[in-house]
Amino acid sequence: MSVARVAGVDVPTGHWIGGERVESERTFATISPIDEAELAQVARAGEAEVDAAVRAAHEAFPAWAALGPAGRAPYLHRLADLIEANIERLAAVECADMAMLLRSLRARVIARGARNYRAYADLAVAYEERDWRSNGTWNRVQRMPSGPAAVVTPWNAPFMLSTWKTAPALAAGCTVVLKPAEWSPLSCSLLAELTAEAGFPPGVFNVVQGIGEEAGAALVSHPLVRRVSFTGSPETGRLIGRAAAANLAPFTAELGGKSPFVVFADADLDAAARKAAGQYDDSGQVCLAGTRLLVEASVRDAFLERFDAAAAEHVLGDPRDDATTISPMIHPDHVARVEGFVERARAEGHEILRGGRRLDGLFFEPTLIAPRANDAEIVQREVFGPVLTLQTFETEEEAIALANSTEYGLAGIVYTGSMGRAERVGRAIRGGTVWVNTFLVRDLTAPFGGMGISGIGREGGDYALDFYSDLKTLQILEGSVA
Ligand code: NAD
Repeated sequence: MSVARVAGVDVPTGHWIGGERVESERTFATISPIDEAELAQVARAGEAEVDAAVRAAHEAFPAWAALGPAGRAPYLHRLADLIEANIERLAAVECADMAMLLRSLRARVIARGARNYRAYADLAVAYEERDWRSNGTWNRVQRMPSGPAAVVTPWNAPFMLSTWKTAPALAAGCTVVLKPAEWSPLSCSLLAELTAEAGFPPGVFNVVQGIGEEAGAALVSHPLVRRVSFTGSPETGRLIGRAAAANLAPFTAELGGKSPFVVFADADLDAAARKAAGQYDDSGQVCLAGTRLLVEASVRDAFLERFDAAAAEHVLGDPRDDATTISPMIHPDHVARVEGFVERARAEGHEILRGGRRLDGLFFEPTLIAPRANDAEIVQREVFGPVLTLQTFETEEEAIALANSTEYGLAGIVYTGSMGRAERVGRAIRGGTVWVNTFLVRDLTAPFGGMGISGIGREGGDYALDFYSDLKTLQILEGSVA
């Protein structure tokens, strides 16, 4: 078995298929954003390995489905226990591989993985079949596990998002083939190891590593796959949706965002400015980030003064240092992409109010741009870096119109002191989640997803369990059976 030593942790670099480590002839490198050094050569799946993984999931499916929610719940709880017991190892590897702040990983991000499995173990058990009488029959709605699920995840929160998607799949009775992103695959290899330790039967949970256009494409178009769940960019989402449709496999996608961050004059400006400067966290590599600051014109200067003070507190540095608040970006190619957006904005004559330059290492200055027009690329397209735009509005109607003026619809953030406005604007914004006077607080039972090009389908709570199930109606003629 090939193993790489990463941040003091042994990480197997093979795939996890049918309860065994499987190598490939080819490998790909994963680098650490911290120093751009190679961390590991990781097995690179082609069609054969993907086919083996889907077949393993297909074979394991009937027995896993037959366990029922209560029979599966102990596996998920054991996995959650093991995640909690391994927070340090998982956090160290995730930090090395994708550079999320180590203290956030230790304090909450890895533990959220455990919460995901616990929540879904319990939700699946608590589900009650709907039962009613009509037309002289008993009607009953049953959830049948749908089969092997293909799960494809992005690089920006690899462990958390992989657990968020596989938890409902496994709890609902699906078996899983997970393909993590090629820029940060290592924590999912450890997750596979923990499923083995938790006693998951071989084939219930599989991981194939590889390049999106190869391994990912082979996985989502495999005819034995019965559900396709994707998180990533809208461009890839379209491709994957087409592949899933060709097999009539239901498809759900959580895609990119360009969320509005709306600040009204009646808001607590200190709190709003602090949270706005917090949109630079994780170098802006957050799908939900409120990257379009929309500020009521009368408080623009007062807001900007507070925003500058809050942004000045950011410390760019090594994600393992407690003092750091902004860590390096994932990959040199991604920094170049972000730089391209800013350079085009500069060339188009939009005003670079703050930042705007690439720094040493994989850093980009926290940047604030005042666009000349709302149809500018910098306003309309997701940058996925530490780049915010600042626009002003005069009226509530104008704020709503600007908030809803992109093709995206993932989230929205509103700061106001008025309950009426919170309701009106919160309801009017087109976004899967709208936060008022807060951000990122999540209840795992609430629906989560995007509108427009930000996604299709909903995760969270029973919504995800429904996705991984075939809903069926059973009707029995009343009085015909004793
Ligand atoms: P991406 O679309 O480039 O890749 C995502 C995954 O898809 C990777 O595993 C990749 O290997 C795979 N892939 C690529 N091409 C494929 C193909 N043809 N067939 C099958 N799989 C393929 O996205 P990314 O750059 O990894 O992630 C950043 C994007 O993800 C941003 O747009 C961000 O907003 C979005 N995102 C959304 C959410 C959400 O919940 N809505 C969360 C995190 C990230």
